Amino acid sequence: MSHASAYDEERKDMVEYQIRRRGIKDNKVLEAMGKVARHLFVPEEMKDLAYQDEPLPIGKGQTISQPYIVAFMTEALKLSGNEKVLEIGTGSGYQTAILAEIAREVYTVELIPELSRRAQSVLNELGYTNIHYLIGDGSRGWPEESPYEAILVSAAPATIPEPLVEQLKVGGRMIIPVGTDFQELVLVTRKKEGWDEDRLIGVRFVPLITGS
Ligand code: SAH
Repeated sequence: MSHASAYDEERKDMVEYQIRRRGIKDNKVLEAMGKVARHLFVPEEMKDLAYQDEPLPIGKGQTISQPYIVAFMTEALKLSGNEKVLEIGTGSGYQTAILAEIAREVYTVELIPELSRRAQSVLNELGYTNIHYLIGDGSRGWPEESPYEAILVSAAPATIPEPLVEQLKVGGRMIIPVGTDFQELVLVTRKKEGWDEDRLIGVRFVPLITGS
């Protein structure tokens, strides 16, 4: 069996055992997770671990999220396919690719230039033309391109950053890990006045670095 097809087999198993059987039902999410070659987003020496049920280091003290968490967060946004989505924390670009498979346009912000550049080169190589990149502090969002139908944040602030909520359309959704020692994924739904919060599951993310 060639190396490429070994990865294909591992990816199929990942979708079946780690994602579908744990309750992810959205077909668009299952298809995207089945399509995007996760091993291309991790450092060379981690490739053989790319389809394991765990987060992995991607350099600069950052991590690529566990596949199940990527699927869970994406499903929570309930994307129909026509959305403009904001992502905070490009990291490896893996979650970006999953969003770009499903949504119309993805705007992604990363604080660490080297990570953004590496992600851009992988995603360009894969041929994505609906992804827009910004290097900077994502806790301020990307106001020039707002409003967004959905926002996905993959680093944890202590409290929900209001600029992000303000850049959501009314009725739009944001999935975000919130907390310091103890963190939860929170689903925020923007209302005409203020927003609703649903606490979903306990998680462990790297901190969202702010104040720069
Ligand atoms: N979704 C990514 C996960 C990356 S980990 C993936 O699939 O690989 C979280 C990322 O958020 C890191 O790359 C980190 O550098 C970035 N980050 C932390 N604070 C940030 C901020 N204020 N603005 C933008 N990105 C930030």
